[in-house]
Amino acid sequence: MIEIDYYEILEIHKSASNDDIKRSYKRLAFEYHPDRNPGNSNAEEKFKVISEAYQILSDPDKRARYDSFGHISSEGMFSDQDFEGGFSDIFGNLFEEVFNAGQRPRDERGSDLRYSLELSFEESLEGADREIKIPRRVLCTLCEGSGAAEGGETVCHTCGGRGELRYTQGFISIKRQCSTCRGNGKRITKACGFCSGNKFIISEHTVRVKVPPGITDGARLRVKGEGDNGFEGGPDGDLYIEIQVQEHPLFKREGHDLYLNVPIGFVQAALGDEVQILTPKGQSTIKIPPGTQSGQNFRLKGKGAPKLEGRGTGDLYIRVEVQVPVKLSKKQKLILEEFAKASEEKNQPVVKRFLDKLQSLFN
Ligand SMILES: [Zn+2]
Ligand SMILES: [Zn+2]
Repeated sequence: MIEIDYYEILEIHKSASNDDIKRSYKRLAFEYHPDRNPGNSNAEEKFKVISEAYQILSDPDKRARYDSFGHISSEGMFSDQDFEGGFSDIFGNLFEEVFNAGQRPRDERGSDLRYSLELSFEESLEGADREIKIPRRVLCTLCEGSGAAEGGETVCHTCGGRGELRYTQGFISIKRQCSTCRGNGKRITKACGFCSGNKFIISEHTVRVKVPPGITDGARLRVKGEGDNGFEGGPDGDLYIEIQVQEHPLFKREGHDLYLNVPIGFVQAALGDEVQILTPKGQSTIKIPPGTQSGQNFRLKGKGAPKLEGRGTGDLYIRVEVQVPVKLSKKQKLILEEFAKASEEKNQPVVKRFLDKLQSLFN
């Protein structure tokens, strides 16, 4: 039977307050935690005993019972089950607190901002250079972020201006950020008149945005550091620019390729012709060969949208739509009837193939 003095283990006096117990436990648990002592079985054992001592002494009922019996055997009072679950919950919270001490809420990053930028179809292909105005939160220009009027600051009485508090016991010392001044060591006695002590003001900021050629609708550009200013020297947030591209009345875009529907007359399609088209660089003409069918595509290599990643450009596809003439005059009808009489099967091979298949189904 091993006799254990829980007060000795937690290195506290018999009259220690609950806060003393908690503080001492945190300090020791931090030192002996298995994560900090990998492979050290002594530390592991010690850690277990510390936790055991804390479980008893932090509970007023258990502590009273323990006090009245004095030194008792560890085996007599606990089974291992007393620690499973309950213990890790208590410990998890405390340990987190110890680790985070002195980090929050200093060095907080400023918020990211979003801006929607509308571009014309042409701008999306050629790229754009725009200046946009962003209202963002910046350090007050009058007090430079201190929040205090001139002479309206004194040293923090809690930490004496150091910004942190040090807990020392034996060889162990833990530093914690001062919660009164949040670590900056100062106390405001008179607030800055410009920001009302908020330390920040909202200010409109001009940002120059270079949109690369070939950008697509829905793309997002990140401008580093152009979001809100950070807290207490923390980094600034970023600005995200969401691109919206206006639709073009004639072009359709798919990936890096552009599509353009071009209507032509049936005589042009039959005889071949030069037809007017549009490319991103302006008007142009292409040659349509004799016998062009409706729906046929002509590819103009490299006349599409620039590729953002790597080099090169997509293609432009010209899709021909053959128009059947309407509102024919008497004379036109006669000519077409003459034309029909002079036509042969080979003039309309697709029609012939269809009729052949139809015939074969009924024979
Ligand atoms: Zn101010
Ligand atoms: Zn302080």
